[in-house]
Amino acid sequence: MSDFPNGSVWLVGAGPGDPELLTRKGERLIGMATTVFYDALVGPGILDLAAPAARLVHVGKRSGRHSKDQRTIDRLIVDAALAGERVVRLTGGDPAIFGRATEELDACRAAGVAVRICPGVTAASAAAASLGASLTLRGLARKLTFVTAQARAGEALALDWERLADPDATLAVYMGKAAAGEVSARLIAAGLPGDTPVALVESASLPDERVFRTRLDLLELTSKAALGDGPALLLIGAALAPEKPAVALPGSARAPTPAGAWR
Ligand code: SAH
Repeated sequence: MSDFPNGSVWLVGAGPGDPELLTRKGERLIGMATTVFYDALVGPGILDLAAPAARLVHVGKRSGRHSKDQRTIDRLIVDAALAGERVVRLTGGDPAIFGRATEELDACRAAGVAVRICPGVTAASAAAASLGASLTLRGLARKLTFVTAQARAGEALALDWERLADPDATLAVYMGKAAAGEVSARLIAAGLPGDTPVALVESASLPDERVFRTRLDLLELTSKAALGDGPALLLIGAALAPEKPAVALPGSARAPTPAGAWR
């Protein structure tokens, strides 16, 4: 098909794990690929969509256990395309959010390889669905901030805590499990109340999905006690309160919708 010629690359977002949360375009591209490079967070149900003859190459990275460095991954992608393969680079969630899309795009372009992005459902959207909650809330959470709390080994997180401690925002913290204690302490020190609602969602959309609700001052305790080995997203802010205040907003004819239909 014309949008996936031999010798080209698609960076495809695999979504949060549930194969049904893959886009139809992503599914078609995976099925057309002759080589698929995939991450640790890409589930087996998605790899099953590749053609039987396709070459599946694991280039997974989980924090602290980098099986292949980024330059090696860039080179593998480019070399496969230059050899005439139809290459899919499958990443968890959306390729343009906390992935290495820039390096991969640059490497392809520098080698004259055609490369495009197919978006995916990012972890924050999947986590909101798991919670049966909205990430934004009229009048209470007008802003949504995606932040990664992954620090370089031995270094403190280089984040602007004063700006992140915004009571009108929802914070979606990616890769934040190890830094949960620091995130909590820094946000409270910067003025966010200790009783700010927090939700932790582990393995959103996967069979072993788990959801926990807590508050900012108990975030470290909860995350240590409750979270397992799966990828986890921390969501912080008033929109995550299990019970929303029934504010009558100007211009809103209807009462606020209750959170999560089945939760
Ligand atoms: N590009 C991805 C994010 C990659 S960073 C996206 O758009 O979702 C990896 C981090 O994403 C993990 O540490 C975790 O914080 C989050 N994550 C990915 N998949 C997840 C899932 N199924 N459930 C909860 N968090 C997830």
